[in-house]
Amino acid sequence: MTDPTSTTTHPDDDAARRLDRAHVFHSWSAQGGLDPLVLAGGSGVHVWDHAGRRYLDFSSQLVNTNVGHQHPRVVAAIQEQAGRLATVAPSTAALVRGEAAERVLAHAPAGFSKVFFTNGGADANENAIRMARLHTGRDKVVSHYRSYHGNTGAAVVATGDWRRVPNEYARGHVHVFGPYAYRSEFWSTSPEQEAERALHHLERVVQSEGPASVAAILLETIPGTAGVLVPPPGYLRGVREIADRYGILLILDEVMAGFGRTGHWLALDAHDVVPDLVTFAKGVNSGYVPAGGVMMSETVARTFDVRVFPGGLTYSGHPLAMAAIVATLDAMADEGVVENAAAVGRDVLGPGLAALAARNPLVGDVRGLGVFWAVELVRDRATREPVDAATMGRIKAGALARGLLPFTADNRVHVVPPCVVTPAEAATGLEILGDVLDAVAADVL
Ligand code: PLP
Repeated sequence: MTDPTSTTTHPDDDAARRLDRAHVFHSWSAQGGLDPLVLAGGSGVHVWDHAGRRYLDFSSQLVNTNVGHQHPRVVAAIQEQAGRLATVAPSTAALVRGEAAERVLAHAPAGFSKVFFTNGGADANENAIRMARLHTGRDKVVSHYRSYHGNTGAAVVATGDWRRVPNEYARGHVHVFGPYAYRSEFWSTSPEQEAERALHHLERVVQSEGPASVAAILLETIPGTAGVLVPPPGYLRGVREIADRYGILLILDEVMAGFGRTGHWLALDAHDVVPDLVTFAKGVNSGYVPAGGVMMSETVARTFDVRVFPGGLTYSGHPLAMAAIVATLDAMADEGVVENAAAVGRDVLGPGLAALAARNPLVGDVRGLGVFWAVELVRDRATREPVDAATMGRIKAGALARGLLPFTADNRVHVVPPCVVTPAEAATGLEILGDVLDAVAADVL
């Protein structure tokens, strides 16, 4: 393997960059200044380019490679399925689809009985919203401003940040502020107060909108892209109580937080809350083949026993995606992957990031659990003014130069390695991140 700082070139890296610049349209960036990292291969927690420059993947790509890259069991299951039956219509009964649904439901809350498979997370939320509207006969959906639910019609409107405008589907959605202790909208001084005030705000908005018009409250169990905003104790239980009071369905989006990332099978397992619908994608098959879905409680599922659900996708329950789900969830269970994520969070990432926060003045806040953490960076700890984009660019470049592939968003570094990361690999990644942040702090403060 080549040192990440080496200037060695490889014709395939050059070709990948040239073709990408010429023909590939990227999301989230203006096309002009793009210079994406080229990746050619991966194994476990590492990825590399054609020249052999190797990186410790602290991003899990888009927070989805939960069992790491090229897990042999998952790769073999996809290959075996491709050799037998590579595609089937959604209206058929395919054994692998039934097995995948059974495996997914094994981790659902009690009383969940069906899975509707989708191609990813956005269309999972899209269909969950549709189910809730049909089940309740109501229209509105309440979600958090600081949220990300995907980038299709209703999902991007439910998303609370800038991505939702302009959008021709923008009807029937209402946003509220959720709990965020570090930048509280409610002037709270404790997690209990933050939960209590956010719940009061949510209930007042529901009352003001007219509860009889509200079909669903749609929340990420732990808002991820918005900054790993772990809800304070009691918040989600309180949301459930509000939903019940007004006959509203609760949809929990586990697309990023689900399937091991928090050190629990689902993030909701740590929150004493039973929703009506759960959406998932990403980690369910480690992202090897696009897949997502909606887990349905028996009550909602029964609505469609006699009534047609007017939705469908050619690739709903695609056999390669299903084979990848079965193999991923079996590998996670057999190899103790969820327990590993919990232990790495408790023993390495939690204490390591706390130590970093104690010594480095750029670190304003650290929060998370399992292998799901955010480090929020500020210019000034007193005012909490976020660091600027140029500083974030330096941090990203510094990490890459040291062989660490980080996940950065706004003024944050998200520490989100695969759930199979070993304690030693997690410690190595933290050491690199710490060194980079120390160097940048010494320079910019
Ligand atoms: N919901 C959450 C919580 C997500 O983090 C994401 C993607 O990051 C989505 C939904 C959308 O998933 P997809 O990109 O697979 O459509």
